Amino acid sequence: MKYALISTTLRWIVPYITALRPAALPLMAILSAWLCLPFMPRWYAEYGFLLQLLPYGLGMLLLLLAQLFNQGRIGQMTLLTLATYALIQQRLQVQLSDADAYWLFFWLCLLWPLNAAGIRYLPERRPLSVGGLIFPVILGLQFLALAALSISDGYSASIAWTASFREQASAGLLPLPAWISFTLGAALMVNRLPRQSETVLALLAVLLLHGGLFYRLDASQISVLVSIVSLLLLFATLLINNHHLAFIDELTGLPGRRALMNDLKHRHGHYLLVMADIDHFKQFNDTHGHDVGDEVLRLVAAQLNKTRGGGRAYRYGGEEFTLIFPSSGLSECLPFIEATRERIASYPLAVRNRQQRPDNQRQGQKKRGQNNRRNMLTITMSFGVARRNRGETIEDVMKRADNALYKAKENGRNRVEQAK
Ligand code: GH3
Ligand code: MG
Ligand code: MG
Repeated sequence: MKYALISTTLRWIVPYITALRPAALPLMAILSAWLCLPFMPRWYAEYGFLLQLLPYGLGMLLLLLAQLFNQGRIGQMTLLTLATYALIQQRLQVQLSDADAYWLFFWLCLLWPLNAAGIRYLPERRPLSVGGLIFPVILGLQFLALAALSISDGYSASIAWTASFREQASAGLLPLPAWISFTLGAALMVNRLPRQSETVLALLAVLLLHGGLFYRLDASQISVLVSIVSLLLLFATLLINNHHLAFIDELTGLPGRRALMNDLKHRHGHYLLVMADIDHFKQFNDTHGHDVGDEVLRLVAAQLNKTRGGGRAYRYGGEEFTLIFPSSGLSECLPFIEATRERIASYPLAVRNRQQRPDNQRQGQKKRGQNNRRNMLTITMSFGVARRNRGETIEDVMKRADNALYKAKENGRNRVEQAK
C-alpha cells in the first residue's frame, strides 16, 4: 500500500522534474530579472540612453531572425513585448493615481495575458506572412477599440469603473480582473505541462515576467529590465530551437549525424565508436508497415539512449545508430554494449499484422479487446566496435567499426563484434 502510493507519486512527479530541464533557462531569466531590479536605478543613471534603446534594437533583430528561421511564436511574443514596452514608455511614465493612466494600465494588464496565451494557439507562421499578420492585426484592433472607447461618451463611465479596482487593490498594483486573466493565460499556456517545448516554456516565462512588471510597475525602470530580459530569453530560445533543428533527429529525438561528426571533431584522444544496425529491418518494414517501423526506431533509440558507462547514442541515419564512449577501454565498455543489445533483443513488441488490420473503424471496434490481434515480436541489433587509435582519422575509425558490424551480420546477427 505504502509502496503503491510512493510509486504513484513518483510516476506523477517524474515527468514534471524532466520538464524542468528545458525550464532552466526561463527560470534563470525570471530569477535574474528579480535580482537585477534593485540595481536598475544605478545602471539607468549611468547607461540610461543605451538601456532605453536596447529593447528596440533587440526586438528588431529578433523579428528579423524569427522571419529568417520560421519562428512565428517567438516573433509574435517579440511584437507583444515591444508594443507593451513602447506603450509603457510613451504613456505610463506617470503616477497611476492619474485616472486616465490607470484606465490604460487596467486594460493593458487585463488583455496582455490573453494575447500571450493566444500566441500559443495561433498557427506557427513567420511574422511577415499572411498567417503571421493575424496577430498584429488582432493587437491593432484592440488598440483601435480602446482608442474608440477613449473618445466615446462611455469613457468617463469606464474610467469610474476601472478606478473602482484601484481602490480595492491590496497587494501590488494588479487589479483583481488582471489576476484572473493572468491565471487563465498561464493555465491556457501550460495546458499539458510535461510535454512542453522550450518555446512554450519561454512564452510562459515572458508572461510571468510581465505579470511581475504590472504588479510592480512603480519600481524604477522595471519596464526596461523586463523587456530586455524577455527579449534575451526569446533570443536564447530561438538559438536553442535552431540548434535542435540542425542537430537533433526529429523521429527519435537523438542527436543526428551532424551532431555526431561535430562531437567527433572535438575528440582527440582515445574513444570507442560503435556502429549499430537493426537486423532484417527491411523485412520488418515490409511485413508490418513503415509506421510500425518508425515506432521501432523510436523504441530502439530510447533503449540505446539508456546505455550506461558513459555511452552517448546518435542516429547515424536510417536504421543505423552510433554509440560513442569517451576515452574508455574496450573491455570496460563491452558489458554495457552487451547489456544494451540484450535489452533490445528481449523487449517485447506488440504489433498488429498488416493483414490483420481492420478495414474500417467498425471492424476495428469489434476486434478491439481481442488479444489475438497483436503479435508479440522482438527485434535484434548487430554491433561493430572500434577503438580509436591515436592519430587515426574519423573516417578510418568508422570504416573499422563498419567492418566489425559487417562481421557481426555475417556471423549470425544479434551480436557484438570488435574491429581488428
Ligand atoms: P540487415 O540485417 O542486413 O541489416 O538487413 P536490413 O534489412 O536491416 O538491411 P538494409 O540496410 O538493407 O535495410 C534497411 C532498411 O531500413 C531499409 C528501409 O526500409 C529501412 N529504413 C531506413 N530508414 C527508415 C526509417 O526512417 N523508417 C523506417 N520505417 N524504415 C527505415
Ligand atoms: Mg542498414
Ligand atoms: Mg539493418
